[in-house]
Amino acid sequence: MNSKKHLGHTARKRFGQNFLHDTQVIESIVAAIYPQRDQFLIEIGPGLGALTEPVAEQIDHLTVIELDRDLAERLRHHPFLHQKLRVIEQDAMQFDFAALYQEQNLAQKGQKLRVFGNLPYNISTPLMFHLFQFHQLIQDMHFMLQKEVVKRLCAAPNSKAYGRLSVMAQYFCRVMPVLEVPPSAFKPAPKVDSAVVRLIPHAKLPYPVKDLYWLNRVCSQAFNQRRKTLRNALSSLFSADCLSALGIDANARAENLSVADYSRLANWLADNPP
Ligand code: SAM
Repeated sequence: MNSKKHLGHTARKRFGQNFLHDTQVIESIVAAIYPQRDQFLIEIGPGLGALTEPVAEQIDHLTVIELDRDLAERLRHHPFLHQKLRVIEQDAMQFDFAALYQEQNLAQKGQKLRVFGNLPYNISTPLMFHLFQFHQLIQDMHFMLQKEVVKRLCAAPNSKAYGRLSVMAQYFCRVMPVLEVPPSAFKPAPKVDSAVVRLIPHAKLPYPVKDLYWLNRVCSQAFNQRRKTLRNALSSLFSADCLSALGIDANARAENLSVADYSRLANWLADNPP
């Protein structure tokens, strides 16, 4: 039976609530995160605490961001963790991670934020884009996502899964798949397979752009018409001659370009806006 009730809480669909209950999967995720006592970890969407409890047991202090008021309240009164937990009842997509980094004096301590969570699937992509803004302040991120999204995040050029999300994620981070997780590991079981991914922000961006707007714009335009040649898909931004002067084959398609190629195109647009 795919019950919506777990540990006395009825899962709310609008908050993307699928609670982990498979202890082996939970152990593997915590082992992948590898929390260390002196580190600053922050969990997004702690829910009923499936990851919160084993992680908090290994460290002195854990900050969690939970949007569901009932779940936040429950965590505040957690029988044995409440003194270790700081519960922030907020939408993680609006959360200012830079303010937290400053408030915790992490720069002085030579530390960065470590972020993890079994993310609500309906907001996972915009949430990652929100987090990418803080890439310089983040040591690493471990997220449970839809398996398809993990495939896209990790995809290399010349593959079907390679798209705007791959380019943007790999622009900011090294991305690697960690673990595949079946629906049966959750209550209620989601309809799709899941996977855990590790994202490690680059210490120095390998292909920095002058203005992210243009990277987003050129990727969106190319991948929104991924069957077209770049000559056609990008005709409003570049002439075919300009593409070849930038080392891009005008007859190639969006999926054939590397992150370095997209970054070169974005930098040319920053200097030569259409
Ligand atoms: N971590 C728990 C687990 O693994 O069992 C719960 C995971 S559940 C997939 C997602 C959690 O994120 C829920 O607790 C949900 O209430 C919370 N959530 C949903 N949207 C959120 C948001 N915008 N900001 C913070 N938390 C959110």
